[in-house]
Amino acid sequence: MKSWDAIVVGAGIIGLSLAIELNKQGLRVLVVEKGEPGREASWAAGGMLCDSSVETPPGLRELATASACMYPEFVRQLEDESGLKIDLRSVGTLLFLDSQVASLRDHSPQGSYPFAVPASALAASLQDLEPALRAPGATAPHLTALYLKERCVDPRQLTASAIAAARHRGIDFSSGDQVLAVEVADGKASGVRTNTTQFSAGMVVNCAGAWAGQIGPHGFPTRPVKGQMLCVAMPRKEFVRHVVRTPDVYLIPRSDGRMVIGATSEESGFDKQMVPETIEKLRQAAIELVPEFVDAPVLETWAGLRPGTPDKLPILGATQTPGYFVATGHFRDGILLAPVTARVMAEVMTGRTPARNLNTFSAHRFSR
Ligand SMILES: Cc1cc2nc3c(=O)[nH]c(=O)nc-3n(C[C@H](O)[C@H](O)[C@H](O)COP(=O)(O)OP(=O)(O)OC[C@H]3O[C@@H](n4cnc5c(N)ncnc54)[C@H](O)[C@@H]3O)c2cc1C
Repeated sequence: MKSWDAIVVGAGIIGLSLAIELNKQGLRVLVVEKGEPGREASWAAGGMLCDSSVETPPGLRELATASACMYPEFVRQLEDESGLKIDLRSVGTLLFLDSQVASLRDHSPQGSYPFAVPASALAASLQDLEPALRAPGATAPHLTALYLKERCVDPRQLTASAIAAARHRGIDFSSGDQVLAVEVADGKASGVRTNTTQFSAGMVVNCAGAWAGQIGPHGFPTRPVKGQMLCVAMPRKEFVRHVVRTPDVYLIPRSDGRMVIGATSEESGFDKQMVPETIEKLRQAAIELVPEFVDAPVLETWAGLRPGTPDKLPILGATQTPGYFVATGHFRDGILLAPVTARVMAEVMTGRTPARNLNTFSAHRFSR
């Protein structure tokens, strides 16, 4: 029977990036995916790379910043290996957030953001930056406008490119194969049992996103957090150039003229149904910001499941079972965190000391 050095469970962006990184270290890798590779949260994501965001939990900031710095090279390598283009944009983000939140969080917004001034004072330059934008500061003076040097990426292109790069490297895939449990022999991981067969490997890593807790023998406290989104066609390419975020909605432009509008955050189990009224509410919130969107054709609507955890931090590292590892729970930031996750997890799995201390993210924190 064929065997591998490592089995990666789940072909989302986390599993794919890690499979590639392990392969770079010379390991023979099998990726086992219950559905089609790259069609769950990593396909549904907006693709904002929010490393300086007020929503980022403090415990995650260092990892988030490290990953954001790795992004241009991460994308360049995937493009080189796959031959597929990835839309990575560096125009930046206009963030409108409650002034109280901004000051509570950082005392001085300038302290941790590259550029931050009240929306009222920014009125003229906002008009220059985004002529189509009706800045919410005009009608909601309690909002502070911040300009953030954040990038955004098209997650579907990113994931498609990672799949192609992994195949190009000779990484094996078994799709439509649901892992039921990690097999243990002599107290160590020895492979996985799926609904159709068994695969053996000396190491297994659980990258099953929102479903990670369903795979035995350890129960990780991951849960699905549903997000609904839509995409419209802008009147022309670069009609809105920045990512725009307000407390009600966010807008993520793509270079081909699409505008992604999101997103809800719902606790509704593994349900991925779209609710027309909810989508319409998001669309109306986008029209409030960019009145011309009233005539923008809706190209697509969708929903996906973020892998949430009780403390909103990912679960990274070894488990109690030698040879069995976990990399999941990336919640709202899995696209951003893919490069650094792959790097540190490959270090842990190949017995090197990771460049970053992963204690905060240990699976053991939930059993203490
Ligand atoms: C609406 C929405 C907007 C988002 N926006 C952003 C954003 O702007 N920026 C950002 O950084 N992140 C964003 N995210 C979060 C991001 O999408 C996730 O954190 C990230 O995709 C998680 O990647 P993953 O590989 O862990 O999970 P997934 O992409 O869900 O992959 C997990 C894979 O495991 C497979 N699997 C599950 N169980 C099994 C099993 N038993 N056997 C085999 N395979 C299995 C699944 O089929 C799936 O393919 C968003 C998410 C959503 C839903």
